[in-house]
Amino acid sequence: MAQDYEALLKQILEMASTYGNSAAPNACAQAPAACGVEPIPVGISNRHLHLSQADMDVLFGPGYELTKIKDLKQPGQFASKETVTIVGPKGALEKVRVLGPIRKATQVELLLGDSFKLGIKPPTRMSGDLAGSPGATLVGPKGTVVLSEGVIVAQRHIHMTAAEAEAYGVTNGQTVSIEFDGPRCGVLGNVAIRAGEGHALECHVDTEEANALAITSDTTFKLIK
Ligand SMILES: [Zn+2]
Repeated sequence: MAQDYEALLKQILEMASTYGNSAAPNACAQAPAACGVEPIPVGISNRHLHLSQADMDVLFGPGYELTKIKDLKQPGQFASKETVTIVGPKGALEKVRVLGPIRKATQVELLLGDSFKLGIKPPTRMSGDLAGSPGATLVGPKGTVVLSEGVIVAQRHIHMTAAEAEAYGVTNGQTVSIEFDGPRCGVLGNVAIRAGEGHALECHVDTEEANALAITSDTTFKLIK
């Protein structure tokens, strides 16, 4: 009996020691190291926008091309030198970064705090899901675009390949929760899985979500299905 208790205690202590360990992968509640999956890096997004070529032509001049300053982790995505001013009924935000490449439709991704400054009420949506979202006015060095829709707050999400989704036991479109340790520990729900071609393993939260839980790019988390 005493031996059983000791064995159980040892097992509990081992489980506890892997929890929140930054070296341990995070897909499994019991024995992460045994799962053979990589820890998921965190990418923190500030407010930004994506432009259609037609809108870029108006804002920066006909045939304009973005100037890359930094590759992002997602394949083909980059931060550009170009910025625009976003204007709403109550105020404006200057120097909002344009991310490349060009998209079919212009999409503005705000922080919730920005929506109060601008007087715009964007829904929380996945990228590309713009139907019924509010618009805004964009001001560039060469012209102004009045958007009828396209302003959202990005829903937090995790990018991964199909193989990584299988290793984590999740599927594209599923929502999961992510649990963070540390002084501002907490759990974030409604985290969408975006799995498939063109995705690289990374969890995207915005700067407000990151600050609320003191998350940095070095923070690891536990994925809860
Ligand atoms: Zn993303």
